[in-house]
Amino acid sequence: MPDPAIKAGRESLVEVKNLTKYFPITKGILSRVVGRVHAVDGVSFNILPGETFGLVGESGCGKTTTGRLILRLIEPTSGDIVFDGRKINDIKSEELRCLRREMQIVFQDPMASLNPRMTVGDLIKEPLEVHRVGGGANLDDQISDLLVAVGLRPNHMYCFPRELSGGQRQRVGMARALSLRPKLIVADEPVSALDVSIRSQIINLLKDLQEEFKLTYLFIAHDMSVVKHISDRVGVMYLGKMVEMAPKGLLFAGPQHPYTQALLSAIPIPSPGAKKDRIILEGDVPNPIDPPPGCRFNTRCRYVMDRCRQEEPILREKEASHWVACHLD
Ligand code: SF4
Repeated sequence: MPDPAIKAGRESLVEVKNLTKYFPITKGILSRVVGRVHAVDGVSFNILPGETFGLVGESGCGKTTTGRLILRLIEPTSGDIVFDGRKINDIKSEELRCLRREMQIVFQDPMASLNPRMTVGDLIKEPLEVHRVGGGANLDDQISDLLVAVGLRPNHMYCFPRELSGGQRQRVGMARALSLRPKLIVADEPVSALDVSIRSQIINLLKDLQEEFKLTYLFIAHDMSVVKHISDRVGVMYLGKMVEMAPKGLLFAGPQHPYTQALLSAIPIPSPGAKKDRIILEGDVPNPIDPPPGCRFNTRCRYVMDRCRQEEPILREKEASHWVACHLD
């Protein structure tokens, strides 16, 4: 298979090659393995320094698992993860701890990810203490600076998470992630738990912070309109596979894969009275324990052919930088 990661030509910050994660399903007191959930299945892509790579797809497509594999929060079944020129698949303990300083995560639900018994100041201080960086007399100044950078006030450091709004809590999550000055942030559905009215504020803040702190983002979301707003390039996943990948402009102007076309047709048009032909996907996403043979989208695709049920389409470059896994020409 051609390798989209290598094709980019520029030094990547992250390269993922044939990344695979199967979760075993066990049964009985002997924990006999009776099946495997094919969560991520041979995914390859790269992320350039300073870029925002949007990873989209329905719930259960493997996008969150991919993010966690890159962060080494879970172990891959096979495949390679290269970060900043270094293969990180099997590094352990102290090396992994050092690596974690350079890769941070912003979670979907800020309330669940922040310890309710800790003040904001202590929450931001915690990663600095764990990684033994910063500290000393100016620690409070560092925390104040981080709070201001994410649009909060220095005296928010004395608040508990329950005293803050959802948007403010997400800002605290971002300050925590930024405290170690990482190179990569995996933002896992960072705005989907927030009110629509404050989503754009958080997205704009992410963009501002990217410039100020020279960040690279893997932005995971199911909402195509959010991804369109923030991403430079977009990868679309379906049932553990990457089905389309392109720079944002190409993907949104001319989606090639029938699944991407359906996702884009669901984005509302902001002007009143404007109409759009929505492509309704029939049926549910197949069970990832037993994915369909051939193209995994064949059970829901309106263009399905006999070949699609037998032969898996490979991800190929249909035009410059635009990769599609589909038998249609
Ligand atoms: Fe549809 Fe076949 Fe293309 Fe899969 S390979 S998306 S089933 S046309």
